[in-house]
Amino acid sequence: MDQHRSALARLSERFSAPVLAQVLERRVTGLAIGAAVVLHLGLMRLELPAWPCPVRSSLGIPCPGCGLSRAVSSLLHGDWQAAWARHAFAPMVLGALGLIIGMALLPEPLRRRGIAAVASFERRTGLTTLLLVALMVYWLIRLLVFRSAFINSTIG
Ligand SMILES: [Zn+2]
Repeated sequence: MDQHRSALARLSERFSAPVLAQVLERRVTGLAIGAAVVLHLGLMRLELPAWPCPVRSSLGIPCPGCGLSRAVSSLLHGDWQAAWARHAFAPMVLGALGLIIGMALLPEPLRRRGIAAVASFERRTGLTTLLLVALMVYWLIRLLVFRSAFINSTIG
């Protein structure tokens, strides 16, 4: 019984482990993500070729994140409908990117407090892990049920 309980406790611990807080821990990672996002969205805005999805290029199927760049771009232009049609997770991704980039720019004491708050929130709610699981389910549904619409929405 004790073994069973500790296995459950371990699973629960793993499920609510801080994922986003680990990304926030490294300022350099946050700044690199920020630079990559600005560069990628800038290239898209100038209608220059941004880097292609490696999964789509190699396997021929869209990855769980395909459509996110354009969805986030639509969101930034206030076009919620287009953003929703391209990728339902765009608001969450935009929020996470804002948090990652914003935290990387904060002075160290404030950044420390922010990371601790995010880690505590993640441990209490398991929200990041839940959203990552939901993203995989969303991808599978799009891929298996709405395949051609999904593939067409991520072309061009
Ligand atoms: Zn992709």
